[in-house]
Amino acid sequence: SDAESEDSAEKEERNNLLSQLEVEEKRIKTISESRKLLPVFAYRDELMSAIKENQALIIVGETGSGKTTQLPQYLVEDGYTQGTKFQIGVTQPRRVAAMSVASRVSDEMNVILGQEVGYSIRFDDKTTANKTILKYMTDGMLLREFLIDPLLSKYACIMIDEAHERTLATDILLGLLKNIMEKRTELKLLISSATVNAKKFSKFFNDCPIFNVPGRRFPVDIHYTLQPEGNYINAAVTTVFQIHTTQSLDGDVLLFLTGQEEIENTREKIEEIALKLGNRIPQLLITPIYANLPQEQQADIFQKTPENCRKIVLATNIAETSLTIDGIKYVIDPGFVKENSYVPSTGMTQLLTVPCSRASVDQRAGRAGRVGPGKCFRLFTKHSYENDLEAMPRPEIVRTNLSNTVLLLLSLGITDLLHFPFLDKPHISTLTKSLENLYILGALNSKGQITELGKMMCEFPCEPEFAKVLHSAATHPQCNGVLDQCLSIVSMLHETTSIFVGNKKEATSHIVSDIDSDHMLYLTIYEEWRAANYSRTWCQDHRIQFKTLLRVRNIRNQLARCCDKLGLTKRNQAAIVQQAGHDNVMVGKITKSLISGFPLNVVKLTPSGYQTIGKAKGGLLVNLHPSSVIFQNQKEKGKKLDKYILYQQLMLTSKEFIRDCIPIQNEKWLFEIVPQVFNGIKGK
Ligand code: ADP
Ligand code: MG
Repeated sequence: SDAESEDSAEKEERNNLLSQLEVEEKRIKTISESRKLLPVFAYRDELMSAIKENQALIIVGETGSGKTTQLPQYLVEDGYTQGTKFQIGVTQPRRVAAMSVASRVSDEMNVILGQEVGYSIRFDDKTTANKTILKYMTDGMLLREFLIDPLLSKYACIMIDEAHERTLATDILLGLLKNIMEKRTELKLLISSATVNAKKFSKFFNDCPIFNVPGRRFPVDIHYTLQPEGNYINAAVTTVFQIHTTQSLDGDVLLFLTGQEEIENTREKIEEIALKLGNRIPQLLITPIYANLPQEQQADIFQKTPENCRKIVLATNIAETSLTIDGIKYVIDPGFVKENSYVPSTGMTQLLTVPCSRASVDQRAGRAGRVGPGKCFRLFTKHSYENDLEAMPRPEIVRTNLSNTVLLLLSLGITDLLHFPFLDKPHISTLTKSLENLYILGALNSKGQITELGKMMCEFPCEPEFAKVLHSAATHPQCNGVLDQCLSIVSMLHETTSIFVGNKKEATSHIVSDIDSDHMLYLTIYEEWRAANYSRTWCQDHRIQFKTLLRVRNIRNQLARCCDKLGLTKRNQAAIVQQAGHDNVMVGKITKSLISGFPLNVVKLTPSGYQTIGKAKGGLLVNLHPSSVIFQNQKEKGKKLDKYILYQQLMLTSKEFIRDCIPIQNEKWLFEIVPQVFNGIKGK
């Protein structure tokens, strides 16, 4: 009968619900059990009383012991946030780590990410006011919070994680925190670090105690190559297959590479070979992880390896200490890392691939010994390990441009830079150069004091150079009226994941044939997409990554909001005459805005090629990157060489390359916009 069948339907539904609840209960139980298995758990009480008794505490422990995911939860459990009154902030040097760890911890606490547990990275704030009590963030974001709340009064505890990485932002944070500790006596400060550097941190914070969490670690067999490798990528690929074909399947492989491009190329090579070998070898699951990997794909590295399959993780330095992937038994280490390197005499920053330090390669090897005895294959010689490698990596503060930092410190009212508590003092020449740069940008006056424009630049969630571009585009009498266009360009330049599906050249040939610069290409893409109502189909038709453009739109919205707030949008509107496509006048204005922000990123055509405009003993010879529109125009369409080019990025790989370039149509613009730098050109 009807009643009966209804009854049984109800019953079935109830049973379904019950079994779902059971599964969920089991999941929570497994999570809470696995939490208890982590090494820090055994020290929970001891740790918490050490935190109670000390304002600052250094925490040292093997990677993967639970520092990042567990300690902040203990603090929450012990009531440090007093309900939702205070927050616990945990900084990470890398955005991927901040996102990934926050997501893990929200799972462990069984809450929705972005509610009680959230993260905050540039252009992406996943927290809720009055609700989020545990916040993972990049060190740079906490640094910016000092501008709004110099005593960090909403935080009960701050954990500076991965302090041994010694990023610029972390170093500055430590100095600022040292300054406020006396005023915020109830603030707890935890500094977690790999073993290296712990003493140095302790000394910096008045000899505060060091808490050591003993970890588990199995022995790792280290193998070296007998001769130096000419091509470490090929050597790495060969090693992957040697492991895969000779070692039992119950151990995954972690290969350290230097960046996205290298990871993608290597992935292709491995896949090609695997395809050729077909079912003569067991299956491979290749999972990349790098800073700009789209968020959707980040969780893949934590996927459980399927049966009869081996996982190959291709990672940058991020897997050295920030993220722990369970199940790794083999580490392949070519021994290289990408590093920013700044040369104050020329004012140029280069991204260089350099050998790792001994501390780094030892840390990498350790990643093989977490689940059981492991093996590490170093693609360099033992002699090189013992004699060539530096003992420790160089802190970023001694090898990077300090303009942002100096501007931030000045706007916090810290004018005596020489007496700021730096863990390692930056070079005086770098500080001087930063002051000079900021003066050229108009952020400082001739007395070295911060100007209104300088304060405005600090408000922008982007580098002062880009802020200056936007400011000029809205207000400079020679270029105003192009704020809308510059907002799109600047946002496109900020999104570092690839915009194109596949090869840029192929993709761009569909879009427009007659474009002179990368900047105008980006602008055209953005505007056409906007005109197509931000549609997904438009992206598919034009071989553009839809998700990337969505992120660009999000960045653009935030920058635009900032312009509104600062009154720039209004001032720009007053200057708009009329917009008829991208005519020469408009391109000129855009170029001039860019010059105002990046006057030092200009190269000049000389008989031997393009050369940077260094003041000291001539410039550096550079090449146009083959991906640049200008390169294609010159090499393939035989266009006349431009006399001056402005670039956004200088890279040193096999050659010096400049990327993201725009020609400067009229050299007069240089001294008209930045006479301080280009007065010399005028007379010629
Ligand atoms: P530490 O900070 O001491 O290096 P973590 O707290 O990062 O250690 O990691 C503790 C454990 O949590 C590790 O075993 C790691 O594999 C696990 N873990 C962290 N993030 C995730 C994740 N997203 N998915 C699955 N396991 C994770
Ligand atoms: Mg950690």
